[in-house]
Amino acid sequence: MSAILMDGKQVSLAVKDTLKERMPALKAQFGRVPCLTVIIVGENPASQSYVRGKVKACEYVGMDSRQVSLPESVSEEELLAIIGDLNRDDAVDGILVQLPLPKHIDESKVLEEIVPAKDVDGFHPSNVADLWLGRKCIVPCTPKGVMRLLEAHGIDPAGKLAVVIGRSNIVGKPVSKLLLDRNATVVMAHSRTKNLKELTLQADILVVAVGRAGLVTGDMVKPGAAVIDVGINRLDDGKLHGDVDAATVEPVAGYLTPVPGGVGPMTIAMLMENTVECFLRK
Ligand code: NAD
Repeated sequence: MSAILMDGKQVSLAVKDTLKERMPALKAQFGRVPCLTVIIVGENPASQSYVRGKVKACEYVGMDSRQVSLPESVSEEELLAIIGDLNRDDAVDGILVQLPLPKHIDESKVLEEIVPAKDVDGFHPSNVADLWLGRKCIVPCTPKGVMRLLEAHGIDPAGKLAVVIGRSNIVGKPVSKLLLDRNATVVMAHSRTKNLKELTLQADILVVAVGRAGLVTGDMVKPGAAVIDVGINRLDDGKLHGDVDAATVEPVAGYLTPVPGGVGPMTIAMLMENTVECFLRK
């Protein structure tokens, strides 16, 4: 038996097509379409490619987008001032700062500067608090995309054991909360977890967000489990690899997200949805 591949490209395309169909009605009702502004600092090739993907998705959906490209040397004050201007600009609905930022800039200070109503990434402390308190909020794109992929494949987390490897603020923690909200029993594993394989072997749903190629191998996976590979690792072969060793996991798992073409496209589709949500909330 081989795992069903969870096609993020296809599911994300359906999400984007639904948004695209809504654009004429939004334009008729509000006189304009939603606008996302993406700020990129420096020349990091991976960041540049992510930003290109986001701008392209806006074009596909029929939304406006702006890109603010700043040199690596930009000061924290300058960046905060630019965000302040965008906060006050009524034509801008969503503001996204592509991470990582150069070391001389305090990332949390920057994310806190974005007004919560335009925080399409859902990283502002007030959005984070709302998420953990179970209030309506902007849900971070990658965790939201993971949940949407599960849903699209009819996988209901209720009563299941979900193991999440990685405890970052952008993936591990929020995806754990979303799984908890859907009534999974959630175990959060991380770099200091001692008995990782013992835990993963029990997981009905295994979400891996570490950034280490091939961390999860077939012998660590419960037969039939849904394995969601969030990792993106560019190796010396020039290709993108996930955190999951697909060759050994595919024969064991029930479902598996490919890399590329799994969680990545879902992240972008959820960003489009979040931008529309911010626009409508205004
Ligand atoms: P991070 O570096 O912030 O966090 C990594 C986490 O992995 C940490 O919590 C750490 O405790 C844990 N970890 C490290 N080594 C471990 C080990 N040996 N065993 C168990 N846990 C270990 O990373 P992040 O920002 O959450 O990103 C994780 C990966 O997901 C990266 O490859 C990143 O590129 C990718 N990512 C993909 C998308 C997407 O859209 N597909 C979005 C965000 C991040």
